[in-house]
Parts: sequence; structure tokens; C-alpha cells
Amino acid sequence: MRNGRFYVHGLEEDSAAIENALDRLFGISGWAQTRGIPKTIEAVLAECAAEAKKIHARGIASFKIEARRTDKSFPFDSYALRCRGGDAVTDAVPGLRVDVQNPGAIITIEIREKAYVYSDARKALGGLPVGTAGRGLLLLSGGIDSPVAGFLMASRGMGIDAVHFHAYPYTSAEAKQKTIRLAGILGGYCMGVRLYILGFTKIQMRIKEASPLPWSTVLLRMAMMRCAETIAKRNGNKCIITGESLSQVASQTIENISCTQNGISIPVLRPLIGTDKESIIRKAEQIGTYKISIEPYEDCCVLFSPPRPILRGTVAEAAELYRSLELEPLIEEAIRNYETVKLGTGG
Ligand code: ATP
Ligand code: MG
Repeated sequence: MRNGRFYVHGLEEDSAAIENALDRLFGISGWAQTRGIPKTIEAVLAECAAEAKKIHARGIASFKIEARRTDKSFPFDSYALRCRGGDAVTDAVPGLRVDVQNPGAIITIEIREKAYVYSDARKALGGLPVGTAGRGLLLLSGGIDSPVAGFLMASRGMGIDAVHFHAYPYTSAEAKQKTIRLAGILGGYCMGVRLYILGFTKIQMRIKEASPLPWSTVLLRMAMMRCAETIAKRNGNKCIITGESLSQVASQTIENISCTQNGISIPVLRPLIGTDKESIIRKAEQIGTYKISIEPYEDCCVLFSPPRPILRGTVAEAAELYRSLELEPLIEEAIRNYETVKLGTGG
């Protein structure tokens, strides 16, 4: 890192892999592929001419030069570099014209400890570097919303671990594999993900047998939250993250969210709470999770979801129903037997 620049040194043949990693890296505003050349005006102008030929071959008709000189001992200032660079480009490719308002390509000259010329600067994801904001525990279903929620928190610098609840044999091995693939994609954005997979079948059966049917989804969510809180505290996660969006489904009314939140002592972050489904889908497409999320699968919530779920539960009633289920031993058992899958940056 020097003067606001990170240098990633790599071999030309690895450039696709490096590009792939940089396109998924939070905390940088942009990047360009280039090579260091000698700090002479001749070398810089020759490189400008070479870039001109490259952009012309891509069918681009206009350009502008930008120049930055952090080494003030270089005898040409940025204005002179822009003029000389522009001349070098039009001499090399007379068909290319200068357009400072709306250029087809920007050729950048930087004079640092070496000279660099490039024309393919790309915008990056921005955000904050992952790891600067602690780690959160994402409730990851196989659906569209929760991977996007994890991505958004990672964009603010939060490392992500994830927990997935399945209800085997009511949910399939494919549903579990699908969640592992989603966690793998997330891992590419947040330096890897640790995914905890828990069997929730006994808990769901207890809820189904011993509580009023309209309440089953809210009670299941409460069990998930409590389980996640225990895992988070044991593993150093500072918060729980969900893909909930206000009033998207019955369990996400503000009253029902109050029921599931009640008694949880660490923050529950819901980055999608005010986002509509269409925007969430667009984001999912952009980050590469959408195609996997829409593969048919059975979520454990859907399997047991009642035909007429309660819409506005009260915290007191929810707490009473939950207490009467005596789920703690079953939650402890689920946590004792969880499976951990570690997914690296490459999924
Ligand atoms: P998603 O698209 O993320 O599945 P959804 O719209 O289907 O969300 P719900 O099924 O109500 O909404 O789930 C709300 C949130 O609860 C999810 O975003 C996720 O954070 C969590 N969740 C739901 N099911 C599971 C599960 N099986 N394992 C872990 N977390 C889950
Ligand atoms: Mg879901």
C-alpha cells in the first residue's frame, strides 16, 4: 500500500483469477490492470500509444487523458503529461479523437515510484473491508433474501458466519447442498464463510404437535433466533442477521417480528427490512445468488407453515406459548450435533 494504492502483483496467466477476486472485494473503489514501466517520458508516451491501439481495436473512437504525479521530481507536471500523452495517442492512432466531456475511454498516466499507464480502470464494489466490523451470524435459508442480507452486511465490513436449519427427512439433501452453494458464493465476498447446519426436525415436530397451528411459524422463528443467539455467543458473533423484509410474509409483520425478537440480547440486524422484493431480486442477480435461490427446494418453514398464520401476535402470548413447549433441551441437542462446513473465498 502506497499513496492510496494497493499493488497486487501477479502473473499475466493468473489475471482472470485476480480480476475475479478484485470484483468481489469490499473496501476498494476501483482497480486497473497495468505494469510498472521506467519513469521516463519516452516510456510513458510509448505506453500511451500502445493503449491507444488497444482501445481503437475495441472499436472506441474517442478518449481523454488523466494524469497524476505523486513523484514531483518527475520533470513533467500532470498538465504537461496530459498534453504530451494526448499527442502520442493521436499520432499513434489518428482516428481517435479527444473528447473530455464524454470520452469512449480514459487513458490514465500515473507517476509514482514507477510509471503506470492504463485504460481499463474498473469500478469496484466500494464499501468497507471485511473484518473491520466484527463477525455476524446470518440466518441463511435457501431462499432469495438471506444471501442478499449477508452480502449487504459484508459490504459494511462485517465478517459473516451462517446458520442453516433443516428438517431432514422432510427437507432433502439437495436443499442442504443448495444452501452450501449459496454460502460458497457469499464466501467469495467476505473472505470465506463458516456455515453451521442444524437439524431442527424434533423442534418442528414438537411445535406442530403442541401449539396452536396459526402460531407455528412464529414459534419456529423464535426457536431459530434463540438457537442462533447461543451459537453466536459461543463463536464470537456480535449480532444475528436475517433476510426479513417488513410485511413480506405473515411472520414478518412488525408485531410478529417483535415476538421473535423478544428476549434476544444481541442485536438482530435486518438489512432488507425496508427493501421491496424486486430490488432484492436485482441485487441477488448482481451478486450471483439468484439462479441458485430459485431452484426448487423445500424450506423447513414452508413445510410446516399453517394455512392461516397469525398476523399480529402479541409478545406476551408468544412468550407463554414458547415457554410451554420446553424446547431448551432440544435446542441444546441440535447445537451439540451441528455440522460445520468451511467455505473459502472460492466457494
Ligand atoms: P429467504 O428468501 O431468505 O428464505 P423468505 O422471504 O423466504 O426469506 P422467511 O422464510 O420468512 O422469508 O424467512 C425469513 C428469514 O428467516 C430468512 O431471510 C432467513 O434469514 C431466516 N430463515 C428462514 N428459514 C431459515 C432456515 N431454514 N435456516 C436459517 N434461516 C432461515
Ligand atoms: Mg425462506
